Amino acid sequence: MSDLSCTPVYLFFGPPGSGKGSISQMCKDRLKWAHLSTGSVCRKHVSEGTQIGNQIDFAMKSGKLVSDSVIIDMVVEWLKSKDAVASGIILDGSPRTIAQAEGILDYLGSEAKHYCVCVVNFDVNQAELIRRLTSRRVCENKECEYVYSLLDEVLRPKIDGVCDKCGSRLVQRNDDKEDVVKARLAVYEKHAQELLNFYKQREVVIISVSANLPIEEVFENFLKEVGFCCDTHKK
Ligand code: AMP
Repeated sequence: MSDLSCTPVYLFFGPPGSGKGSISQMCKDRLKWAHLSTGSVCRKHVSEGTQIGNQIDFAMKSGKLVSDSVIIDMVVEWLKSKDAVASGIILDGSPRTIAQAEGILDYLGSEAKHYCVCVVNFDVNQAELIRRLTSRRVCENKECEYVYSLLDEVLRPKIDGVCDKCGSRLVQRNDDKEDVVKARLAVYEKHAQELLNFYKQREVVIISVSANLPIEEVFENFLKEVGFCCDTHKK
């Protein structure tokens, strides 16, 4: 990741609730990196009732994956729109299948602009994941969708139930209720090992970040692991 002529693309990989979204927000706020959450774009489609939204509504509600072609198009379209704007790019929650990984890596490899890809594997135990997901609250404003946790001092909203960023109401995501959370974790487990094997075969750099810690420490560890040094990372 030391090649200064390349734009690093971090593929955030880990189960729902492992802190991918929170670390993405911190990178975006403090380091001005660009960030795509496919889950967030999918929820926006559903809430706006677009054609894609209607197509993916059922999968989203039941904690299943939406189709690979929808996700690949979403990511590639977004990457094209981000041409040369950020010093780091985060894909949060994608790829989630080998077909998506192939589609996205092939796109990144085919671009004239040089990207260096790094998988960031967020590692957390399952009991902690369920506790975190059921304590997560998100801003209901689909343009914002800022994520909070009732468990972590750094991630709590300043005023209960109100978004610090835009003042909208905080809500619990439908798929953060316990039964759907369990389905989502099972889907993750099903694909996780084969995806990691795929990355190893393609010789993609993989770093692991222990995410069982408070979020500020996870962020510190993440920065150390990616070899990034920046004094703006402290509030
Ligand atoms: P997330 O916010 O990343 O937990 O995603 C919420 C939901 O959006 C998932 O349970 C899936 O239904 C859908 N989704 C988001 N990203 C993907 C992806 N890369 N592949 C398939 N489905 C996705």
